[in-house]
Amino acid sequence: MMTFAELGLDAKLVQATDALGYKNPTPIQEKAIPVLLSGTKDLVGLAQTGTGKTAAFGLPLLHLIDEGHKYPQALVVCPTRELCLQIVSELELFKKFQTSMHVVAVYGGTSIGQQIRDLKRGVQIVVATPGRLIDLIERKAINLEQIKYVVLDEADEMLNMGFKDDIEFILQNTPNRESTWLFSATMPPEIRRISKKYLKEPVEITVGKTNTANKNIDHQYFVTSAQHRYQTLKRLIDFNPGIYGIIFTRTKADAQDIAEKLTREGYDIDALHGDLTQQQRDKVMGEFREKTLQLLIATDVAARGIDVQGITHVINYELPDDVEVYTHRSGRTGRAGNTGVCMSIIHIREMGKMRHIQSIVQVPFHKMDIPGGKDVCRKQFFHFMDKLLQTDISHGDYESYVPMLEEKFADVSKEEVLKRVAAMEFDRFLKYYENAEDLNIYEQRRERFDRSAGGDRRGGDRERTAGRDTRGRQYGSGGNGGGGDYARLFVNLGTKDGFYKASFLQFILDMSDLRKEVLGRIDMKEMNSWIEIDKRAAKQMIAAIDGKNYKGRRIRMNDADSRR
Ligand code: AMP
Repeated sequence: MMTFAELGLDAKLVQATDALGYKNPTPIQEKAIPVLLSGTKDLVGLAQTGTGKTAAFGLPLLHLIDEGHKYPQALVVCPTRELCLQIVSELELFKKFQTSMHVVAVYGGTSIGQQIRDLKRGVQIVVATPGRLIDLIERKAINLEQIKYVVLDEADEMLNMGFKDDIEFILQNTPNRESTWLFSATMPPEIRRISKKYLKEPVEITVGKTNTANKNIDHQYFVTSAQHRYQTLKRLIDFNPGIYGIIFTRTKADAQDIAEKLTREGYDIDALHGDLTQQQRDKVMGEFREKTLQLLIATDVAARGIDVQGITHVINYELPDDVEVYTHRSGRTGRAGNTGVCMSIIHIREMGKMRHIQSIVQVPFHKMDIPGGKDVCRKQFFHFMDKLLQTDISHGDYESYVPMLEEKFADVSKEEVLKRVAAMEFDRFLKYYENAEDLNIYEQRRERFDRSAGGDRRGGDRERTAGRDTRGRQYGSGGNGGGGDYARLFVNLGTKDGFYKASFLQFILDMSDLRKEVLGRIDMKEMNSWIEIDKRAAKQMIAAIDGKNYKGRRIRMNDADSRR
């Protein structure tokens, strides 16, 4: 294994990595750092978050930049405020021994004035989200004339969030750019195109397999019926008493709904979704980071860029449509060498989708039984007993109470004391789980389902049957090919706007406050999309979306069939 010194980094930077306790470079650092230090102009790094990619570009930047000149020399562009702050805080640690080096974070949702003042103080590295950066460029508050290095971090996420034009604008407005380093977890065609257009013969570095989930993650799935999804979620949480996790939902409405229900039932949970103000969002994230909040429930969009250490579990309340979304979700756990569990609650009709994800991710997914009531109680019981045994009694004045306690408990045996303690703690669980239902859907029930769904079970090919059913009806209760009770809506948004199916689905549902059950098939093209929707909900969706603005462009939505 190499050391940071052997990679050719400046002694001050090696000292900083030592101070951070980094023993050896991670694979991406080992591959990228020498290449970037050797004067390579352009680089494409295919790596997911958690691989140490911030240091892979951050350390070379700090090595190459001239500390003596107090103007922006490097620009790091990333998709979210969270990631922006995270990159800056890592750079701050790396530049600990470079006292004249300055880094500033510029991102939206907060006062621009302070950021302008920070820029004026003289900084060498600017870490920015695209929207705010463009604002600053247009106000002429930032000087990009002498930017030599541009790093695009999480380029695929930026594209997913619709920042394609902004990225191109930024690249076009850095006229003296000498090096462009693009980092992305995946390589969709659009990233290839940007790379081809703006990068010159880039060195390509891949860490792990693109789209491949981290090997430290145990992928599990639980098959239940649609109406038992919520109960299954609860049971999974109860079965994992020490859980510190993120639950993903597809819509804002689900996230909010479930958070409210679980809070009412005494769970330590809060929701993160697009409706929160920046202040509310910071509060929730702060509590979660400090672990005063045990569970976070979030939509994919709201959770972008979140990097919290030590997440034990990711739960997919529903499977996403895109494999990339699955990989992003599961990648929130099992970071920095830790292990993690990604649990998906799936409905029988999602088996095909699940197998599709598994085949691309290329790691085994484990089908697990949903724990029964007794299993949950046993687990909780032993967790509590472990906690009891580990409780620190060295502080406080407990000794002085002992004679009193001994007197009080004179006629009560140790066994009885333990039973009473257990009863106090477990009443809630025991009562709740006394007559707990079995939430699993077993093969037999599944076979019956397959047959009733018209599946061909010749040769016991259950998987194919389930898969076909899922593909045919992508959004559960929906998809009937345009007839029946569905209206078909046209909208002038498409993949060119940076949407992919899951994000588009979430966008239209969030805008219209409708639930996904109203939707049928969604057909996305580059410029336009067509949406099948329950006729009764069509009006509400049109009213909510038609005429609104999306990135400065007016959205047009109408009944597709009346346009003909
Ligand atoms: P990133 O992929 O940049 O988000 O990094 C993931 C985490 O790994 C961060 O918390 C880093 O502080 C940590 N990290 C980065 N490089 C190393 C290293 N060489 N050794 C140990 N931890 C590291």
